[in-house]
Amino acid sequence: MPVKSLASNSHQKTEVNFMDTPIMSTYLVAFCVGQFDFVQALSNQTLVKVYTPPGMSESGLFALDCAVKTLKILNSFFGIDYPLPKLDMVAIPEFAMGAMENWGLVTYRQVDLCIDPNKASNSQKQRVCTVVTHELAHQWFGNLVTMAWWDDLWLNEGFASWAENYVSEKLHPEWTMWDQFTTGHLSYAMKLDSLKSSHPIQVPICHAEEVEEVFDGISYCKGGSVVRMIRAVMGPQDFRNGLSTYMKTFAYRNTETHDLWKCWEDASKMPISEMMKSWTEQMGYPLITVTNEHWEAHQVTLTLSQEWFLSDPSAELTDEEKDKKWCVPIFTCTEQGVQPDICFMREKTATLIVPLEGGENGGGWVKLNAGQQVPMRVKLTPTMLERLCIGIKNKTLPICDRAGLIMDAYALAKAGHLEPTALIQLLSAYQNEHAYIVWQGISQVLLALDSITMEDEDMNTRFQSFARILVKSLYQSVGWSNKDDSDGHLTVLLRGIMISLLKNFCYDDEDVKKEASARFEKFQSNPDDVESLPSDMRTQVFQIMLKNGGEKEYEQLLSYFQTTSDVAEQKFVLASLGNAPSPALKARTLDWALKDLKMQDFFYPMGSVGSSREGREISWSFFKTNFEAVRAKIGKGSPSLMDACIVNCAGSFCSEEKADEIEAFFQDKGLVQNARKIAQTLENMRTNAKFWSKLQSSELSDSEFWNNLS
Ligand SMILES: [Zn+2]
Repeated sequence: MPVKSLASNSHQKTEVNFMDTPIMSTYLVAFCVGQFDFVQALSNQTLVKVYTPPGMSESGLFALDCAVKTLKILNSFFGIDYPLPKLDMVAIPEFAMGAMENWGLVTYRQVDLCIDPNKASNSQKQRVCTVVTHELAHQWFGNLVTMAWWDDLWLNEGFASWAENYVSEKLHPEWTMWDQFTTGHLSYAMKLDSLKSSHPIQVPICHAEEVEEVFDGISYCKGGSVVRMIRAVMGPQDFRNGLSTYMKTFAYRNTETHDLWKCWEDASKMPISEMMKSWTEQMGYPLITVTNEHWEAHQVTLTLSQEWFLSDPSAELTDEEKDKKWCVPIFTCTEQGVQPDICFMREKTATLIVPLEGGENGGGWVKLNAGQQVPMRVKLTPTMLERLCIGIKNKTLPICDRAGLIMDAYALAKAGHLEPTALIQLLSAYQNEHAYIVWQGISQVLLALDSITMEDEDMNTRFQSFARILVKSLYQSVGWSNKDDSDGHLTVLLRGIMISLLKNFCYDDEDVKKEASARFEKFQSNPDDVESLPSDMRTQVFQIMLKNGGEKEYEQLLSYFQTTSDVAEQKFVLASLGNAPSPALKARTLDWALKDLKMQDFFYPMGSVGSSREGREISWSFFKTNFEAVRAKIGKGSPSLMDACIVNCAGSFCSEEKADEIEAFFQDKGLVQNARKIAQTLENMRTNAKFWSKLQSSELSDSEFWNNLS
């Protein structure tokens, strides 16, 4: 709250009195004491300030502008104004999370708030915008209305994750945040929630130490995904009316999930509670299988069944688990567009009739889960898949559906519902794809397959040759630079993904090496030259240089890290160093990270070391040897830091034996607050190991298969 009075006391100190806060939850109280500069502006009646390290106030302008606009959008969205007279946002030099939504005094990791206006990358601007909008949404969802207990944490985080996209899309429509959502939040949620070691969105919390564990992808990303799904079901107006009633009814009070359902039920007259229980009270999500199809001239009749989708094809299920079902809204699209009617699948099976417009035998394709509105996987018939391939190639299939289809195919192949050969054949349908969102999906699949096939050099070589064809086709059209100054935000991001894939699949191609070297050299002579080496490709170019180079580039980057004061630039280096090929440099990177880096940053280099086959052995062995030092470094810091170390050092193995070894290692370490992350890491590893043995026994191990593809 603003200062009420200042007075000198008898100890030659100043006594500061602040205005009273409204009634509020204790976890939202914060004080900041330190040297800061600031920039400020008014958003209607609210004074907004962004506090930065001294001398850097200009770096707060981007976030300030974003906050001023966001408050206006949310005031009108909720129909209830931001209730405090001021909003301060502060960059903190050492901060475990991205940010914390303390009421009226939001604290941020510096890199998530401050932007160098002359250098910032597009992805950094997007990151700052989504973090700021997320935290400001909490000023209502969480702060004005607070969940009664932590088992409803998703009411805070799921909604804020939804709102960060809603507001960012309003501020920057050209970013197409909802399309990005499908390959970001939704994709992450579905990977995590396909494990038996996942948990329901509403999760019982019995002990204080369990609280930190639910600040995870389920509360944030699956929570945000189900909010998006509800909005698609009830429509934007009822959705918003229900929320506005909720805010007005429960302002300065506590709520439980059913309070929100009630407000939405009143607004929409739909059975929201009945539908949503299956999504928030049980873990996982459904696999919808098309078991029968009947194509006619003007319609297709599909028979559907649903079951729990699990990544592990041999997971053992009880009868009760086999019976699990969800109330699934089925959105459908065809070449004529999204169908206006939503079919609700409440039972294990359903029949769906989709109208088609003319053409021989119905013509055209049918896509279920149109717009990827629902966290679910769809197993199609070969005919449906064949027709959809045409939609992929001629791009009549919308962008996020093209992305959704390939991500579904990967998950289905891993779970034993699709032949690996069909996955590769589907991938090859994307040869002329140029949409950023779709490439986010393709790139996740290519990198996952690369990581798994790393187990065997022959298959990995064949897979890499195949991946190169896809990546090079993108490379031909996007290139290294903007030819006519017309690149939009998404093209810049697409180029970033492309160079990242070049780093994985084509780093030693002569033209790639030559271009990266030329740009790196110019960067060396002037690190501020973002024309020659734009910020959106710095990490990737550093990585290419390191993969091809040796000690010289390594030393250059290390010294750049030490001399630059720009935390975003430092992060580019942290994500790169582990790519140096020499085991000695990889080991040195890990040592340096543990000894010299801040607690908030030291896990980043572990990720870059652990990303290669040799590197993962080195980082795991480092972790084992230095476990006590890692634990001491984190001390009483957030358990999420230990989670990050575990995933980065142990997460990319792909064998049953390694999983046993890692499990045995953690057995007596007493990492109570990391237990779920360890279980998920092990389950994922064992599932990958099963997928790997499936790949080996499939046609993918036959060079003929790959030869016939190209
Ligand atoms: Zn949050």
